[in-house]
Amino acid sequence: MADQLEALQHLQQVDGQLYQLRLAKGQKPGELEAARQAVAAQEARLKALEEQVKALQLQQKDREGELQTREGSIKKLQGQLFQVKTNKEYSTMQHEIDTLKADNSLLEEDMLRAFDSMDSVSRQHKEEAQRAAEATRHLQQETVRVEGEVAALDAQITTLERQRHAIAPDVPAQTLELYERILALRDGLALVPVINEICGGCHRRLPPQVVNEVYLKAGLVMCETCNRILYQPAG
Ligand SMILES: [Zn+2]
Repeated sequence: MADQLEALQHLQQVDGQLYQLRLAKGQKPGELEAARQAVAAQEARLKALEEQVKALQLQQKDREGELQTREGSIKKLQGQLFQVKTNKEYSTMQHEIDTLKADNSLLEEDMLRAFDSMDSVSRQHKEEAQRAAEATRHLQQETVRVEGEVAALDAQITTLERQRHAIAPDVPAQTLELYERILALRDGLALVPVINEICGGCHRRLPPQVVNEVYLKAGLVMCETCNRILYQPAG
């Protein structure tokens, strides 16, 4: 039993490290989440600005059409001016022309303002595109970093797994099976020391007879609270 417990201690040492390494590896992909979200947010901003430019362009096209229609009307009315018979008709028509011209100059002012807006939106788009490129670059760097760290963790895991394969045969099959079941259920910690009559796993005080059994090393003794295997540390 003493040999078994000693082999289990070796195994637990390796398995504890394996548990932490696998945990760390599992958390690695999550480290890219922030960078990924930054890229998505930046792309959404770019898209919104592109839609703004498109809307402004459409508006501008409508205004151009309107402007041309009115200019056509003005030309037509100016041609008709020579055919009118009375002064009254003439001044009515002239007034109509002036109104159309006034409307057009307002429209032209609108168009100039719209050009300014388009300029400012394009400038914004340029800045945001730069930020998007930076966010993408950052994500790429982070991906390389995380992949490197995962590879390093994998290398450590492989080494420990090899050690584990070497140690595991020292533990009888039945004990190993029990130990591994506890290991899976109890976050990689299946074998714990008894320290000052307290379970090293759940930190509850152990009954004196349990402490005694552990001390005697007559068989496997488990903590009644957390079901972990107990051992008496040397010294
Ligand atoms: Zn316990």
